[in-house]
Amino acid sequence: MGLNEDEWPERFERNIFYPQWLLREFGFPSDRDLLAGERRRFLGLLDLAGKNVVLFRHQLEDEIPTVPSPFLEDARSWALERKVTEAPLGTVLAEIVVSRSDALRRGLLSSESATVPRRPGHVEGPLAVPEPISPTAFELYLRCPFKYYSRYLLGIEEEEEVEEQLSPLERGRILHEILQEAFAEWDRGRSSPRAIDPESYDEALALFRRMALASLPPEHRAIEMERLFGGAGEPGAIPWLLRREMGQSALRERLVEHAFSSPLRLEEGPRGEKPWYVRIQGRIDRADVDGKGLLHVYDYKSGRAPGEAVALQVPLYAMCLSSERGVPVKEAAYLSFRDRKAISRGDFEKAKALLTRTYGAIREGRFAPAPYQEHLCASCGYAMVCRKEIVEPLEPLGPLGPLGPLGPLGDVP
Ligand code: SF4
Repeated sequence: MGLNEDEWPERFERNIFYPQWLLREFGFPSDRDLLAGERRRFLGLLDLAGKNVVLFRHQLEDEIPTVPSPFLEDARSWALERKVTEAPLGTVLAEIVVSRSDALRRGLLSSESATVPRRPGHVEGPLAVPEPISPTAFELYLRCPFKYYSRYLLGIEEEEEVEEQLSPLERGRILHEILQEAFAEWDRGRSSPRAIDPESYDEALALFRRMALASLPPEHRAIEMERLFGGAGEPGAIPWLLRREMGQSALRERLVEHAFSSPLRLEEGPRGEKPWYVRIQGRIDRADVDGKGLLHVYDYKSGRAPGEAVALQVPLYAMCLSSERGVPVKEAAYLSFRDRKAISRGDFEKAKALLTRTYGAIREGRFAPAPYQEHLCASCGYAMVCRKEIVEPLEPLGPLGPLGPLGPLGDVP
């Protein structure tokens, strides 16, 4: 294995302090002796085999073609000396196959197998889509199918860049923790949620501040406190949220980090099932039932709210909670703490269509790298493995065609 230059033979470390002739005087082996020793070791290894010897070498390293080891020539002489005529040395060593068409041209692949259509980025389906469905996972698919594939099929965690500041993931986790604990504390011992009004605003702000101080790691505290509570001329994300609360009517119920698993009924499924029942599972950051018995569902985002083409969490959570509790939905929105905005995503019909098509695409095994916005690649932890820059000709994928993960949706770039 690894029969490449610098590996067979191994690169010798040169002594930079003493010349070769002096070292030889003291019994150190010369470069020539070392090379002869390596060669004997290599040929000795070939001789160890009882029956077959198979040699491999990799042709690319970090996308750069490698240089074969000079020992491959020794392997040829070794084969000739031992009259190894049936071993595939002659064939394999003579061929450097870099692509499928190359292999076809050289006759190393039968034309029969050439008729099997190539489908880059496509896993042989149909695949079992894990149920209950996680809207978070489906949103990841919509952001880039390859990210979903790496995370959920291969089980590879996304690599986070080591930054001096908190990573977006950590920032989001801490924000959720602060809000969960602060609201729980605010409502503690009460049968219905305590309102945040102008009289209690300062008290609420002090409580959130205490919770934030307890949750933030000391090394990031100063900068993150400013981000959350504002500085000179900046209102901060938490005061924005509390003011928003003050504008709401009295609540009957406030659910924080509410876990659920509910069946959802859709008129039509990915394979034409009518109706289609699918179980959805998740954790809702925040859901309120107002004084009129209407439901408000929110998902916290420490960054931007997802665009309409990839938003599934909030509309699915709202639909599920609404049917679970038998209450109509008044509002379904992402609360973006970065932009200090509530972004409504209450188009349920669109969300249902997106859910069905995403389910169908995962089932069909479509996982080609296709970020929904190009800039996502800049901060993607799978950038080193997805090989997005390698463009291979796509062949027809069936009725939807090779137009990205979901076919001609129009609203999915
Ligand atoms: S780098 Fe871009 S294309 Fe590759 S997995 Fe990440 S988002 Fe997808």
